[in-house]
Amino acid sequence: MSPGHAGTFYFLLVYLPYRAMSIERIATSAIVIGAGPAGAGTSFFLSKFGIPHIVVEKEYFPRDKVCGDACSGKTVLVLNRANPEWMKEIQNTEQDFLPAWGISFVAPNGKVLEIPFEPNRTKESKPPGFTTPRLVFDNFLFQKMASPFCKIYQGAKIEDIKNENGKAIVTILHEGKQCQIVSPMLVGADGDKSIVRRKYQKGDNSPKAYSVGLRAYYEGVSGLHAENFIELHFLPEIQPGYLWIFPLPNGMTNVGVGILSETVRKKKINLREQMLFAIRNNPAIAPRFANATLNGKIQGWGLPLAVERQSMSGDNYILTGDAAALIDPFTGEGIGNALYSGMLAAEAIQKCISGNNYSGDFLKEQYDDVVYKRLGDELKISTTLQRLSCHRWLFNAVVNKAYKSVSLRNTISCMFSDIDLRDKLRKPSFYFKILFNR
Ligand SMILES: Cc1cc2nc3c(=O)[nH]c(=O)nc-3n(C[C@H](O)[C@H](O)[C@H](O)COP(=O)(O)OP(=O)(O)OC[C@H]3O[C@@H](n4cnc5c(N)ncnc54)[C@H](O)[C@@H]3O)c2cc1C
Repeated sequence: MSPGHAGTFYFLLVYLPYRAMSIERIATSAIVIGAGPAGAGTSFFLSKFGIPHIVVEKEYFPRDKVCGDACSGKTVLVLNRANPEWMKEIQNTEQDFLPAWGISFVAPNGKVLEIPFEPNRTKESKPPGFTTPRLVFDNFLFQKMASPFCKIYQGAKIEDIKNENGKAIVTILHEGKQCQIVSPMLVGADGDKSIVRRKYQKGDNSPKAYSVGLRAYYEGVSGLHAENFIELHFLPEIQPGYLWIFPLPNGMTNVGVGILSETVRKKKINLREQMLFAIRNNPAIAPRFANATLNGKIQGWGLPLAVERQSMSGDNYILTGDAAALIDPFTGEGIGNALYSGMLAAEAIQKCISGNNYSGDFLKEQYDDVVYKRLGDELKISTTLQRLSCHRWLFNAVVNKAYKSVSLRNTISCMFSDIDLRDKLRKPSFYFKILFNR
């Protein structure tokens, strides 16, 4: 044996078994991969139920996430359920969180439809939504995860995930040390490029169910609504998709575009150029950017859309948020659904623990079916709306009518809070009545 081979042999004989023996093994009731909104939502409620768990996150907080930074009523609902004090904190910190009272739709023909989120608003009403940079919001959520039931490994690299004897075993490298975490339940809250999803479900989302988005921060955009309405501009040049302008605290604005990846591929669209072209040339938009400056880089990320029901669990695992492809196909909102699915995942885990049953069949019943019972209708409506928004003439016609009719504007406004009313939007009769004044 040459001296080189002898060295290798010595390494294999002595060092590797030593390393294997020295790996720390930790047992816990649930492992959560990812500390974004889905992971935080899961963790809040696991802690509330007194369930010990470990959160593994690859970044260090505060960390950024490419997003439109708009949080809807569902975010408010989950935070209020987790701890009502947190929303008070948000409402009292306007330098970080800007209250949003409505939404403006701009039809392809340029007509603007302003819809307040709360048509019957009183002095006591609280803002139904807010905007805040994700750098700030996710760090807020991250701080709130602190609990005696939650241990967090930040800056951790996942080296391996495997299943053995009804347990998930996750090997991580954290601060130079390898460690194995063992649990009957693994929660994939690791976003769009989820490794948990890839491990258990293979394959990625279909391009029909996937959008790509760009985000830019601008300072000094003019013409924003006095009550911070978020704006969706359905420009003819960006369809099926839209350009958004969302006011943020401190005079900042989040500007971006989202469009189906299938369209980008088929039409060979350069999204960045298209967005900048609209900002520089669209007659309704360009003057508002005359004195605006771009802060930082324009960045892109994917949006896995909930256009069809997919499996979100199996033996010993659950997927939440973007890992489960739960983004609203019409509005592009995913923060609320990520938090909400995290909450439902924690409820399902509580049932698994009490019934000592972590099987795929049980989880389908306790998690997938519950998520679709609660969110399925609104996701179906949004899928229909996303498809309808591609018909420019219909979109223009509805906005034209609503522009003139207070009662139609009020009906659409109520649709934001009333899911049964919103279901009308799926029915052809709704459009027939609008178009023919019935
Ligand atoms: C351009 C754009 C605009 C958007 N605008 C809005 C909007 O205005 N409002 C809205 O509600 N939604 C919006 N969304 C959607 C929203 O950003 C997502 O739905 C939301 O972030 C999903 O939360 P999540 O926790 O599932 O995933 P993420 O927020 O992506 O969090 C996943 C976490 O997992 C961590 N992670 C990933 N891989 C690993 C790993 N291997 N090991 C450990 N940790 C890992 C990540 O670091 C991250 O912290 C937008 C998305 C895009 C792309």
